[in-house]
Amino acid sequence: MTATTTAAPDVTGRESVESFRLRAREWIPANLRRLADLPAEEEGTGPMAHDEAAWQRARALQRKIYEGGFAGICYPREYGGLGLTPEHQRAFNEEAAGYEMPMLLNVPTFTICGPTILDMGSEEQKREHLAAAIRGDEVLVQFLSEPDSGSDLAGATTRAERDGDVFILNGSKTWSSGAYAADYALCLARTDWDAPKHRGLTMFLMKVHQPGVHVERIKQVNGGDEFCQEFFDDVVVPASAVVGEVGGGWAVASRQLFHERNAVGGGSPYFSGVRTARSRGPQVDTLIDLANRTGRADDPYARELIAEAHALGVIHRHLVERVASGTRTEKMPPTAGSLIRLFHGESATRQAEIALELAGPTAAMSASDGPDTREVGVSYLFRQAAQLGGGSTEMARNIISERILGMPREHATDRDVPFNQVRRGR
Ligand SMILES: Cc1cc2nc3c(=O)[nH]c(=O)nc-3n(C[C@H](O)[C@H](O)[C@H](O)COP(=O)(O)OP(=O)(O)OC[C@H]3O[C@@H](n4cnc5c(N)ncnc54)[C@H](O)[C@@H]3O)c2cc1C
Repeated sequence: MTATTTAAPDVTGRESVESFRLRAREWIPANLRRLADLPAEEEGTGPMAHDEAAWQRARALQRKIYEGGFAGICYPREYGGLGLTPEHQRAFNEEAAGYEMPMLLNVPTFTICGPTILDMGSEEQKREHLAAAIRGDEVLVQFLSEPDSGSDLAGATTRAERDGDVFILNGSKTWSSGAYAADYALCLARTDWDAPKHRGLTMFLMKVHQPGVHVERIKQVNGGDEFCQEFFDDVVVPASAVVGEVGGGWAVASRQLFHERNAVGGGSPYFSGVRTARSRGPQVDTLIDLANRTGRADDPYARELIAEAHALGVIHRHLVERVASGTRTEKMPPTAGSLIRLFHGESATRQAEIALELAGPTAAMSASDGPDTREVGVSYLFRQAAQLGGGSTEMARNIISERILGMPREHATDRDVPFNQVRRGR
């Protein structure tokens, strides 16, 4: 079914936000399912939200939204998007609240990898990969962390050696969210071992499933297995897959981290849909429901906890808006995304703790034992992910102190030393 309302342009020749909102208001209920109507196995929360079927549903849903004319709202038209503004995206998100959206595709495909390709990729990479992702045909993933370099990303030791028109990759990447279901990865590898560590890196936009790549899924404490480790054994990658310059991988990675901080903190203009309880910690409605189900709605301490969670949510929203406008108007440096990244890590963890306090021992119960609050217990087990994914909160504090507050840089013995002379290993 397609929308019948016509697009009304504003003075810039773009469709006005109000007209766009009205079209979305008409199209969404006619084409998307209400979250409340989804069968339990398709609800999209909990550790199993990342199974193969969920990825297939997300791709199909993205295609439907694309065909309906609401995909890639802030991406340029020449790369398959709509070329509209964050205000259009916000209007769409508000209208889509309560409806099923392809949330799995937001991070990292649309909010991190896509914008990085947009900023740093070749014309061919932009035309091919952005358009494919917006159509729902391509899922992107990040190959940054390695078993021995997570926070110290510039210490990557995955090796890429030039051989004529191709590079040969060897090494290993890890903690890649959803790699098993992805098509292409932004992969940081070392191409020059004589250069200091930040200058010998190159970013590749490589195929995930190809000869020489072995993807292994990692079982997590909460029962999920969306994380993967990849092993590269003489993987052939064409030179046309280089993003930016050979040896210029750190500039690309820095841009990627900028988008990642915004995405993780909740400030990306490319995020489509309403962020789920799982990604931001339990929301206030969920906590009120929890207090009702556990018979604690009148307990003053429980009410205080819910008020604290509410305050965290309000501050988060305002912080996101403040940093987004600060970086857009260049009143704040691009690294200011670390402020929202840090706040998100702290508040999501606190919200998971609050939910556990409200649920008490019932967090370990299944429905047959009493109120079904298992999701609270499972989310609590995974709470520290919010402090690590997208760069740890400690690293965010380092960035804030050094790049925003202008405090002295952390001492590094390896900064200007050729990488092959840097002492490595545990
Ligand atoms: C939910 C989630 C999704 C993720 N998705 C991806 C992905 O898709 N692709 C990908 O490549 N990676 C991904 N990661 C990995 C993530 O980027 C790393 O976990 C993170 O960068 C930390 O690296 P590490 O785990 O190796 O910890 P380490 O770097 O070993 O750090 C261990 C601890 O030491 C602290 N520390 C380290 N160095 C410093 C320092 N200089 N100053 C102060 N403290 C320091 C860290 O803050 C941390 O607490 C994901 C992680 C999570 C939790």
